[in-house]
Amino acid sequence: MKKLLSIVGARPNFIKIAPIDKALRKYRKEVSHQICHTGQHFDDRMSRIFFEDLDMPKPHFYLGVGGGSHAEQTARIMLELEKVLAAGKPDLVIVPGDVNSTLAAALVASKMGIPIAHVEAGLRSFDKSMPEEINRIVTDVVSEYLFVTEHSAMRNLRDEGVADRKIHFVGNVMIDSLEAHYEAVEASDITQRMGLEKENYILATFHRPTNVDDKQQLSALMNTLKRLAKERPVVFPLHPRTCIRLRDFGLDKRLPKNLHLTDPLGYIEFLSLMRYAELVITDSGGIQEETTYMNVQCITVRKNTERPVTIDVGTNHLVGTDLEKVEKTAMDILSGITKPGRIPELWDGKAARRIAEVLVEGLG
Ligand code: UDP
Repeated sequence: MKKLLSIVGARPNFIKIAPIDKALRKYRKEVSHQICHTGQHFDDRMSRIFFEDLDMPKPHFYLGVGGGSHAEQTARIMLELEKVLAAGKPDLVIVPGDVNSTLAAALVASKMGIPIAHVEAGLRSFDKSMPEEINRIVTDVVSEYLFVTEHSAMRNLRDEGVADRKIHFVGNVMIDSLEAHYEAVEASDITQRMGLEKENYILATFHRPTNVDDKQQLSALMNTLKRLAKERPVVFPLHPRTCIRLRDFGLDKRLPKNLHLTDPLGYIEFLSLMRYAELVITDSGGIQEETTYMNVQCITVRKNTERPVTIDVGTNHLVGTDLEKVEKTAMDILSGITKPGRIPELWDGKAARRIAEVLVEGLG
């Protein structure tokens, strides 16, 4: 019996590991699977609610590292995780995404000689000012199994000299989770409870440092949302980082009635709001993919994306951080000038099954 350990720490990680945990249950005679939660996200609304909504088992290990600077957080995860790996001696460590927990786990496991599987490997924004880009590059370098979601990721890894045998194009586990909960998403009454008319409101999320850490940019962003709120109700669930910045900069006051700031929402409620939105405006990675899958128009307020398939094939509009351009694109979309989209290859709800198959065979 081989022992697999997944390391999760942040909201998008939980969503990516849930379907893998489920897929591995089919092989319970061959492998055991445990989950270690680093505590990078510790707020109930950023963590516990996802375990409930996604029907995930409680984590077997909880490191409780909390916040801090990048170095503090990464270092604390490394120190605590080393003890867990030394005691449990897993045969393989699974790390999803690109957060500090991903990087810390990859560094510790690789130095202990434990093979690593990186879920969502090969994505590149080619922008090293993004902490996530550093996390992705380093994690990929030390990983044995590189599970990719789109063709661009395969090309990036090959360009970096990664051997073909390590690269597995399996599809997108984020879409597996979405597929698995689609009925609940469609049945949710969140729009009704919030007094929203389906396909007649805007959903916004922002948490990247380039948008929320700079007072001028965040202020301009809020002004854009205020102007758009004259056209349609705008719902803006706040990431804890964004909430703190808005308060610190004094930008959370005197908001129009049509601009609804909320706490972070649970998975099902948030997806349901996305499903029925006329337009989503975001800087999130995962939301670019989910909107593409659900054929919802999405404006990405970033200079680049590591998920180009959402532009080339999907409904994503990458407009940069110039807010005049964001507003113009939004107005165009609200007036009916939309972009048709298709679902990218292998985003079919079966990625986790493919990952489990590869791992079980590889470890066999
Ligand atoms: N999400 C959520 N509630 C919210 C905001 C986002 O459940 O209030 C989900 C969203 O549907 C997606 C994931 O969280 O599945 C994206 O996480 P985030 O934007 O924090 O991270 P990123 O994808 O940018 O790494």
